[in-house]
Amino acid sequence: MPTDPLTLGQQLVAVLEGGHRTATYKLAVMVALLDLAVESVPDDPGAAVGIDLDELTERVMALYWTQLRPLDEKQHVVLRQSNDGRGVVFDQLTALRDASTTARLRQVPIESAKLAVPKAYRTAHATIKKNLVRYPLKLLQRIGTGPYDSFLYDDSWLGTDSTRVIAAHGNRIELFPGVCHTLARLAPLVKPAFQLAWVDDVRRMNREILGDEPDIAAHLFGTERVSLARPAEVLADHFGNDCFYCNATLRTGRHDDHVLPWSRVGIDGLTNLVLACRSCNTSKSDLLPAPAHVTRALDRGRDVLDSLAETIRWPSQFDRVVAAYHGLYATQPSTTPTWFAPRRIEPLQRGDFRWTDAEF
Ligand SMILES: [Zn+2]
Repeated sequence: MPTDPLTLGQQLVAVLEGGHRTATYKLAVMVALLDLAVESVPDDPGAAVGIDLDELTERVMALYWTQLRPLDEKQHVVLRQSNDGRGVVFDQLTALRDASTTARLRQVPIESAKLAVPKAYRTAHATIKKNLVRYPLKLLQRIGTGPYDSFLYDDSWLGTDSTRVIAAHGNRIELFPGVCHTLARLAPLVKPAFQLAWVDDVRRMNREILGDEPDIAAHLFGTERVSLARPAEVLADHFGNDCFYCNATLRTGRHDDHVLPWSRVGIDGLTNLVLACRSCNTSKSDLLPAPAHVTRALDRGRDVLDSLAETIRWPSQFDRVVAAYHGLYATQPSTTPTWFAPRRIEPLQRGDFRWTDAEF
């Protein structure tokens, strides 16, 4: 049974090292799978878990959406994600960007573009999904050229672009028993490794464009991916212009803070955003917050957050935050440091958090 974390971790590393990649799609699929695993942790650690292919496609699109914004607004330089700079994902997302004519859409999460140009989004999604099923999902677990063992999910039926075949398999891949829970445990270790490999690949694929350009990691995965100015305004108007954590009034230097760190969960939805003072924001950094902070963020209320998000056509993602909250804390050991306040970082106290849907 491939649920031993060490063995599964070694197999994932083998995916990373399995030869020269001509495109970054496998890395994107793996990062999306890790995020989805965290949000899908079952109560029974040994359970098999289905991953919906529409959902997986949305996550892959979201990852590329911000990466394919121009590196330099004036020159319209967009970084390649494959050796020849072409590919279905690239073409479809470029078309989606072109459909969203207003420039401001370029700095928003893809969910906002989905609301603005739903038809163009559906077209891109359908094409990209077929492409993912046909190539990276089929090839992800194949290491080298010989026979191989699937260790994440059964890929024998993949490689098709038949809508009928995909539907016949429930429109999903099924993670083997125990794999989802183990992936969620490994995610904090493995996701950064996949992101680093992604940065290296993009650097290699864009050597001529980049020259000495130093920091493409920030362009691909940094905090400037989307502009949080509009959600911050809405939060200040509704909840007050105070630090969510220490209640200090925010006169200058207001910071937009992801309650669950973006690096861990990739959630830009309003439910995961609060205003924070510089001191709290910088000391919290990428640490997991103490569970009480997440509970408080959710206690602002689904209805309130959803309707505020709607006024600015921003995703709310309440359910994703609840799911990630559960998955993150349920799979980490009690020695995990959690952030309470500046200069107060303490081991995770498991009794501190509640996470069932019914409680929110
Ligand atoms: Zn503060």
